[in-house]
Amino acid sequence: MRKPFIAGNWKLHKTVTEALDLAGALKQEAAGVEDIDIVIAPVYTALAKTADLLTNSNIQVAAQNCYPAVSGAFTGEVSPALLKDAGCRYCIVGHSERRQLEGLKDISTQAMQNLVVAYEPVWAIGTGKTASDEQAEEAHCFIRGLLRGLYDEAVAEATRILYGGSVKPDNVDGLMAQKDIDGTLVGGASLKAADFARIIKFKRP
Ligand code: PEP
Repeated sequence: MRKPFIAGNWKLHKTVTEALDLAGALKQEAAGVEDIDIVIAPVYTALAKTADLLTNSNIQVAAQNCYPAVSGAFTGEVSPALLKDAGCRYCIVGHSERRQLEGLKDISTQAMQNLVVAYEPVWAIGTGKTASDEQAEEAHCFIRGLLRGLYDEAVAEATRILYGGSVKPDNVDGLMAQKDIDGTLVGGASLKAADFARIIKFKRP
């Protein structure tokens, strides 16, 4: 059984004060929600304070990007070690919006332990259009097959594969009912406490 994983990608939204307000509201909403990994990804400037606020809660903090070096002359970049130091437990790597800004790059060099994969059809990101439950399941099944071929059965069965692309309170239950969909990566709907709360409280089949 793979533990569900629900992540909110706040993208370029929220001042530090606004981030703390939202994180505080989510902390209350998520109290008592068990057997699921809940992660939020604020902007860099809000990471450390948000992580502090969420200490001893069931919400973990992620960064939205990182640079695969320990330290050095890399102006403007942040390393995984510094993100960990700021209280991050996860980091999004290779988001399509970053690849659009930077051009295609090999994201394998950024991959860290505890890999969670997200399938996000680009036409569904921020558009309000969502893949049907069946389309998403077909893609997830395909990705799990790739993992089986690249690694082995154990890795394929253990890796959580998230769906992303206009996930909302009214479509999360159907997506999460699919066998190979282990969670969701949520953009727009993660910016409202009530919507994200409903998403983490998806109805289990
Ligand atoms: C995302 O940020 O990865 C995303 C899927 O955004 P949205 O939910 O707004 O489509």
